[in-house]
Amino acid sequence: MAPGLASSVALVLAAFLGCLCLVALSEDDLLENLRFVRRAQDAPLVSHYNYIVIGGGTAGCPLAATLSEHSRVLLLERGGLPYRNMSNQQHFTDALADTSLASPAQRFISEDGVVNARARVLGGGSCLNAGFYTRASTQYVQAAGWDARLVNSSYRWVERALVFRPDVPPWQAALRDALLEAGVTPDNGFTFDHVPGTKIGGTIFDNNGERHTAADFLRHARPGGLTVLLYATVSRILFRQQEGVPYPVAYGVVFADPLGVQHRVYLRDGAKDEVILSAGTLGSPQLLMLSGVGPQTHLEAHGIQVLVDQPMVGQGVADNPMNSVFIPSPVPVGLSLVQVVGITKSGSFIEGVSGSEFGIPVSEGARRLARNFGMFSPQTGQLGTLPPRQRTPEALQRAAEAMRRLDRRAFRGGFILEKILGPVSSGHIELRSVDPRANPAVTFNYFQDKEDLDRCVHGIETIEKVIQSRAFANFTYANASVESIFSDSANFPVNLLPRHVNDSRTPQQYCKDTVMTIWHYHGGCQVGAVVDDDYRVFGVQRLRVIDSSTFKYSPGTNPQATVMMLGRILHEVASHLCHIISNELLPVLFPKLPYPPHAF
Ligand SMILES: Cc1cc2nc3c(=O)[nH]c(=O)nc-3n(C[C@H](O)[C@H](O)[C@H](O)COP(=O)(O)OP(=O)(O)OC[C@H]3O[C@@H](n4cnc5c(N)ncnc54)[C@H](O)[C@@H]3O)c2cc1C
Repeated sequence: MAPGLASSVALVLAAFLGCLCLVALSEDDLLENLRFVRRAQDAPLVSHYNYIVIGGGTAGCPLAATLSEHSRVLLLERGGLPYRNMSNQQHFTDALADTSLASPAQRFISEDGVVNARARVLGGGSCLNAGFYTRASTQYVQAAGWDARLVNSSYRWVERALVFRPDVPPWQAALRDALLEAGVTPDNGFTFDHVPGTKIGGTIFDNNGERHTAADFLRHARPGGLTVLLYATVSRILFRQQEGVPYPVAYGVVFADPLGVQHRVYLRDGAKDEVILSAGTLGSPQLLMLSGVGPQTHLEAHGIQVLVDQPMVGQGVADNPMNSVFIPSPVPVGLSLVQVVGITKSGSFIEGVSGSEFGIPVSEGARRLARNFGMFSPQTGQLGTLPPRQRTPEALQRAAEAMRRLDRRAFRGGFILEKILGPVSSGHIELRSVDPRANPAVTFNYFQDKEDLDRCVHGIETIEKVIQSRAFANFTYANASVESIFSDSANFPVNLLPRHVNDSRTPQQYCKDTVMTIWHYHGGCQVGAVVDDDYRVFGVQRLRVIDSSTFKYSPGTNPQATVMMLGRILHEVASHLCHIISNELLPVLFPKLPYPPHAF
């Protein structure tokens, strides 16, 4: 193709991909214009690529786009395009409340009794999330052993593509001023940096409230270098023994299309070719186990042939507990997702979301159609005040009706929430079945470690100060005491845990009783335990994991910036420089990359 024509095609693709989340076109309309994105049922039964990336999520999309610059890459995503139920911030809770099989959010309930969600859509969690964008701290980058210069250039690449400075509405501005009044200082203004104090961070929602997602990175792909398959559920990674190599070598994957037809994709056999797992915190350890890499007895219990006994697969899984309080407002409050964050020195982070949409869909029409109440919908099963056995469909129906009868003004206000650093408490992921579409069993062990509880208590105390501050006075009823605000929130249907209504006034009990997720779960394929410093899986070859499952702790206040950066960094400089500089220079610039650079 002539360079001029190639760049026009790239521009058209870029324009369409740029609009992926902006316009409510049907999937057929969109696919017609996205030549490198196809449905899995249209894929050949056998194909060959240099890189096979499993999971078109927050890490997988930037990774595939970057790799495609010099190689042929296949990106396999089990979900569809991010165009329905999630394009505008007004729909934040709609996708989460959609529990259908076609939902972009696959709901799961951890063994702890907390309702959670994982992405099932091209763009992954960035299509569902609250959009807040913040880099990891300098200390985090140092501890991870990453090259700070490369980290910064990769963050900048991400930020150029899809990060915006938010328009801060009065409720968020009041939260910022209240945090400063409560002592969460200094005022760091607008910044992406993770530093103690109060700041306004970035967002992936533009100023029209439209969401930009990791799928937007695909506009940077070399069109001839990338194929994306939707509705392609990978069931296992293929390994073989290779002469002279002591470990099993990954050489392909098997995926099923929606009709149940099995397809095989093989690596092309070039020295640098690899399978890369980017299926997220639940998906990556799950797929390793389904492929025979995991704890031996657990795999045997599921009849899986053990290839490598790797007891750490699925371990060290953690979720930062979120506790929130709803503050009813005497004045109307506009919708805002997370924009302001208070980073306390004691390891709790305070954020806020406002607007009645969190309790109830925006328009009457949507309300009638959706018949749900967003995140706190009893119809999604979150009847926290009833013991699990009493959560019958009839009970759900009664609770839904009761919510429907509530005056809309009951939903006017905002949530102030706190998330804790770390956390220190962690759990594990285990298979429930060998079906790759089914959720594994996940245990997070919230607040098992006292340090986590202490951080939460400190966060709750900071929220109390915010509610009582002068700066926040316009958004609180003068006659509402802090105690009454917290005790009302303690009755919200936020999880499936039994309540201790009388005790909920102690901050400790409030933390435990009202624990929710902030969806920053991570671990299961941690660096040093399951993958090495270059993200290669121990005990096998030609297989890496690059996503949130590799984190020991969640980076920054919120992780997506670092997940996207990770998708870019590991191959960015290497894939460029391999072509233009000598092999001697590479290890100096990027000491943690494999050398000799067989993988690039
Ligand atoms: C509701 C919500 C709110 C959040 N708010 C914020 C926020 O405001 N700011 C922030 O920084 N972070 C936020 N997060 C967290 C952030 O979005 C996640 O940490 C991040 O998206 C994780 O990225 P990942 O690449 O590890 O996984 P994902 O983005 O989930 O990608 C994994 C992909 O793999 C696919 N997959 C899984 N298994 C298979 C398989 N077998 N075959 C094929 N494909 C498969 C999935 O469909 C998915 O697309 C939020 C998350 C959620 C859910």
